[in-house]
Amino acid sequence: MTAQVPGPSVAGRNNAAKDTTMQHAADYDTGNVFARILRGELPCVPVYEDELTLAFMDIMPQTDGHALVIPKYGAADLFSLPAEYFAATLATTQRVAAAVREAFAAPGIMIAQLNGAAAGQTVFHLHFHILPRFTGVEFRMHARDMADRTVLETHARRIRAALDNA
Ligand code: AMP
Repeated sequence: MTAQVPGPSVAGRNNAAKDTTMQHAADYDTGNVFARILRGELPCVPVYEDELTLAFMDIMPQTDGHALVIPKYGAADLFSLPAEYFAATLATTQRVAAAVREAFAAPGIMIAQLNGAAAGQTVFHLHFHILPRFTGVEFRMHARDMADRTVLETHARRIRAALDNA
């Protein structure tokens, strides 16, 4: 099942309601790039969306099929996300990871989640990375090379098709 959106949709697939009222933690910077995506101010290449979460392609993928899952709640990191959103974000991560695995016939799936600049975090809205992995194939540098949008669209279509078949 793909983005059957019961509530506000912010990824442009159902442009009717952009989330301008997202709740957030006290220390959250509402100007970060994922907050702007959630408000519809910046585009993304979506793969899945529901009331509490959004999944989209990483714009500088470390492997083909590199996707991100975020909560629709402003939390910079793992420590400030309410339990309801945390459960939903993990559930979406599991669902999208299964679709990425199928879409890319990947024998391995890496899930990464960074907290704090010291850990390498560059966007301060909690997110889970989903990366297909193959034995002996290294992944590319973190957040370095911008992908072609048409390639990302092709990869997203494959993931959405796998979600539809789940
Ligand atoms: P992290 O370093 O864990 O905070 O990861 C942030 C990720 O967000 C990196 O992998 C970036 O490539 C990715 N990223 C940054 N800007 C965008 C964007 N506008 N759309 C999609 N992914 C993005």
